[in-house]
Amino acid sequence: MKHTPRAFGPAHRKDHPPARSGLQAAPGPGFPIFVALAAFLAVSWALAAAPGGIQAQDPGFRPDPENPASEVRIVPNPLDIGAPARVVLDDFGITLPPTGSFDNRPVFFFRTKDGWTGLFGADVMLKPGTLPLSLSYEKDGLAAGGAYDVTLKTKDYGERSINVPKSQVQLSPADQERAAREKVLVDAALATVSPERLWSGEFLEPVNASINSSFGRRTRMNGILNPRPHAGADYRAPVGAPVRAPATGRVILTGDHFFAGNSIYIDHGQGLITMYFHLSEILVTDGQMVEKGDEPIGLVGKTGRVTGAHLHYGVYLNGARIDPSAFRKLTSNLDK
Ligand SMILES: [Zn+2]
Repeated sequence: MKHTPRAFGPAHRKDHPPARSGLQAAPGPGFPIFVALAAFLAVSWALAAAPGGIQAQDPGFRPDPENPASEVRIVPNPLDIGAPARVVLDDFGITLPPTGSFDNRPVFFFRTKDGWTGLFGADVMLKPGTLPLSLSYEKDGLAAGGAYDVTLKTKDYGERSINVPKSQVQLSPADQERAAREKVLVDAALATVSPERLWSGEFLEPVNASINSSFGRRTRMNGILNPRPHAGADYRAPVGAPVRAPATGRVILTGDHFFAGNSIYIDHGQGLITMYFHLSEILVTDGQMVEKGDEPIGLVGKTGRVTGAHLHYGVYLNGARIDPSAFRKLTSNLDK
């Protein structure tokens, strides 16, 4: 998409009259068009936001320099690599959802008691440093936003050693082809972005068991350190233990995959996707809506590349692989 980069930071007067733009402002027949235009412009500005536009004074709290009644809060900041965060905007004077991006991924907003809340994550493979969170919104008829520095810090998630049969490390040409074919399906599922948020409230644990291999851990497989950290959490549970959806969503992919075994991918909306691997049974079908904590979606197993029965549970936020436990904690008081 082509756009003209522009300076960012203080509120910009837009091309329409500066009439107050709240939904209560007696919209005329042209109002829906205005909404659509404003949303389009907001997206354009989000794309145009340049890194490092505004320097942080106090990480985690960012008042709008033009209007002290407006706040942008990023919590937490600094942020652990592999952790999720939220950005909160007071909704006073902001009637349309803000738009944003972080690490070349979109940030979607929804209403909470605090105002507008957006969620984003620091992918487990990111390096320490700072990355801009670009925000764009319209407040009282004026465009506002900017690029807010998020500091990323290293977290030591530990290391584990496992041994697996050679045939599963050195893949045969047929297995390589199979794994590549399955990766295409999985990548397509992970690219799903449905605009509506389907979930609310605190995420549940997907299975009644404890975690025996946590997120982020490096694996030494047959003596060789895998450069890719563990992108989910492993729950020690016996074959047949019921797995439940931690939140409401729609099943977007099921299958028996080389590495993940019997797997389920659930889309919770706004780029939030969870996954469940190594199942003995899949009890849902593609396209099915699943309710939070309702009927089991599958049963724990030991299918795919595993050393024993467990549930691998992963949480991706717009493609960023994040710690499921940290995400659950984040959701615990989001909607209260
Ligand atoms: Zn795992």
